[in-house]
Amino acid sequence: MPELPEVETTRRGIEPHIRGHRVTGLIVRQRQLRWPVPARLGQHLRGHPVKSVDRRGKYLLLSVGAGTLIVHLGMSGSLRIIHNDTAPGPHDHVDLLLDNGSRLRFTDPRRFGAWLWTRDAIETHPLLATLGPEPLSEMFSADYLHELSRSRKLAVKSFIMNSHVVVGVGNIYASEALFRAGIHPARAAGRISLSRYRQLADAIKSILDEAIRQGGTTLRNFVNGEGKPGYFSQSLQVYSRRDTPCPRCATPIREARIGQRSSFYCPICQR
Ligand SMILES: [Zn+2]
Repeated sequence: MPELPEVETTRRGIEPHIRGHRVTGLIVRQRQLRWPVPARLGQHLRGHPVKSVDRRGKYLLLSVGAGTLIVHLGMSGSLRIIHNDTAPGPHDHVDLLLDNGSRLRFTDPRRFGAWLWTRDAIETHPLLATLGPEPLSEMFSADYLHELSRSRKLAVKSFIMNSHVVVGVGNIYASEALFRAGIHPARAAGRISLSRYRQLADAIKSILDEAIRQGGTTLRNFVNGEGKPGYFSQSLQVYSRRDTPCPRCATPIREARIGQRSSFYCPICQR
């Protein structure tokens, strides 16, 4: 599943090719994505220049002035720029045509992605209105996590994976950040001190930042290529490494279900 770093890498990959260019058309080959692609989406977009390509959580936001195209990659979606009329494959559901002759092509085998339209202020859209802060913003801090978690009994891993708390911390990054911060993933969120939340907030920021920077090396792939940053080669310390030695203390890594998700941790280094 594309996580925040992959979505940010996608944003950086497509932005230089579409920003400032006028939309000349939209080809929808399969309307049934997670929600149906609005029937009049092409009419809304056509003739307008793409003013900005932003990201909020895992949503890509293409503003055309009259409104905003909201794109989500879902479980298996990807975007790439093509400069010719390369024949679409069976999962190439949408093409956005631009006046420079290039196309933004959306591929999504599992069809959990989304192409939606809004004329309203983007922060009021139902999908975005209740999202927590961006993890790489100043709003996301130890003080914020500490204050919000007081008296909450749920596992800290579930807490930081909740998009109302903070956006874009998926299962892999949550596991890795908790290991880096030395916090047991099942510990009650409300029983973690401010200083330990400082370590956790720092770990989340640095892990996501490293993944985004690694993704930067794949940007050229967005043109006529795969269009998929995929999972970064970022070395995973605990995720999916059950029974292998902890990189710090050599104790076998354990796996547990926490909030319906597989969690990996070191029983010695994480308390
Ligand atoms: Zn260990």
